Amino acid sequence: MKHTKVKDLLNSTTTLQEVNAKGWVRTFRNNQFIALNDGSTINNIQCVVDFENTPEETLKRITTGASVSVIGTLVESKGAGQKYEIQVSKLEILGDSDAEKFPMQPKKHSLEFLRENAHLRVRTNAFGAIMRVRSVLSYAVHKYFQDKGFVYVNTPIITGADAEGAGEMFQVTSLPLDNLPKNEEGNIDFKQDFFGKHTNLTVSGQLEGETFAMALGQIYTFGPTFRAENSNTSRHLAEFWMIEPEVAFNDLDDNMDLAEDFIQYVIKYALDNCGDDLKFLEGRLLEEEKSKPQADRSEMSLLEKLNFVLENNFKRVSYTEAIDILRDSTPNKKKKFSYLINEWGADLQSEHERYLVEKHFKCPVILYDYPANIKAFYMRLNDNTEPGRETVRAMDILFPGIGEIVGGSEREERYDVLVQKMEALGIDKEELYWYLDTRRFGSATHAGFGLGFERLVLFVTGMTNIRDVIPFPRTPGSAEF
Ligand code: ATP
Ligand code: MG
Ligand code: MG
Ligand code: MG
Repeated sequence: MKHTKVKDLLNSTTTLQEVNAKGWVRTFRNNQFIALNDGSTINNIQCVVDFENTPEETLKRITTGASVSVIGTLVESKGAGQKYEIQVSKLEILGDSDAEKFPMQPKKHSLEFLRENAHLRVRTNAFGAIMRVRSVLSYAVHKYFQDKGFVYVNTPIITGADAEGAGEMFQVTSLPLDNLPKNEEGNIDFKQDFFGKHTNLTVSGQLEGETFAMALGQIYTFGPTFRAENSNTSRHLAEFWMIEPEVAFNDLDDNMDLAEDFIQYVIKYALDNCGDDLKFLEGRLLEEEKSKPQADRSEMSLLEKLNFVLENNFKRVSYTEAIDILRDSTPNKKKKFSYLINEWGADLQSEHERYLVEKHFKCPVILYDYPANIKAFYMRLNDNTEPGRETVRAMDILFPGIGEIVGGSEREERYDVLVQKMEALGIDKEELYWYLDTRRFGSATHAGFGLGFERLVLFVTGMTNIRDVIPFPRTPGSAEF
């Protein structure tokens, strides 16, 4: 007989004579009650074993983590919190799990311990929920853009474009590492490489994405990006997924509208389609909050926080206004920021971003018009800015608990201005001839942004460390899987 998913059994509209469920044992109580989970939902189905007619040997093998198949009747449950349970008539152990050795016993594990067991942590309630929410969010990303007629573009992962991520690139070579061929100057001869030049893992698909936007109009990428982030923060991974829409004829305001609408859409989609998982994660968070001193507890629950983002416009603030606010602020009664901002032109650190969002405006913030010298070369220079105070049409979206979640801009569409900028920064024009071609042939205003998918998942699940929202985190010193 075909088995039915636990989710469908729990959502059944009637009791049923004979059903088959397969899954993994979460707990086995009183030699009688199996809490069975198959990953289709956060909820377990209770399977009531006829222990008098089940051999002792079999009962002993019903341990946490074991996979089992049960056949029985779906009946109304007398137990609290569940509509149905299975009265088991036939039970088969599919795969044993040594209870002594199985690391995922149903007790509270530290997140650090779970990270070391990334291949097994998904068997816990919390990680099952996080990974289902992540999956629904990625579907929502595609749905949003596809419904709007955007074209999905796969930009290259191995790329020669290295204009952006100075110092953060993973190098790619097909040459044997123990015997790298050298040229006459004694440097590694990449001409002998499979690709015939120096290549890297991509840090962003934007530059290639722009070339497609300038033909297809509206495009988006959604793929892995790599940055050799040699620091341990709770918001950076060496391998993360980025969503990068790019739209021809959009300016900075259109870009802000698109980003805000997109973020609200995907959060709403998760609320509508991951209700049980989000409620579970909310409960987990409430438990965690209880162990904190009253003053440090969050004012809003997870679902309140998500709904707040849907119901409130993001506050749009220029960099210059933000600096004025930060210069005069003391985040705690006495303590100043560890990095003080006294001068216009300084880059914001995450403590400033979070202060603006969490303490000052108390809502998501879109910061725009940043000083040109702290932003990338391709951003559109604002007209009429004071000499020495040039700004670009850049925007960063800042979220509570996270800081930067989006970085974007209107792009410099003027060939001459772009070339001047590249020359001033020593960026090789020959190498980026293909990028400059978009400005040589039918250039136009265009804009886009990059959203770090894991930072979005972090916000939606209420987790606090980015390592806990990606299946297999890549951070300095951890890539054993
Ligand atoms: P940050 O200031 O946090 O280091 P960034 O300004 O270097 O981010 P961008 O180059 O603007 O990042 O990339 C666009 C988005 O990608 C960011 O807004 C963020 O959401 C995400 N992102 C950047 N670096 C990482 C990383 N190492 N791990 C996870 N997400 C990242
Ligand atoms: Mg960075
Ligand atoms: Mg940044
Ligand atoms: Mg950025």
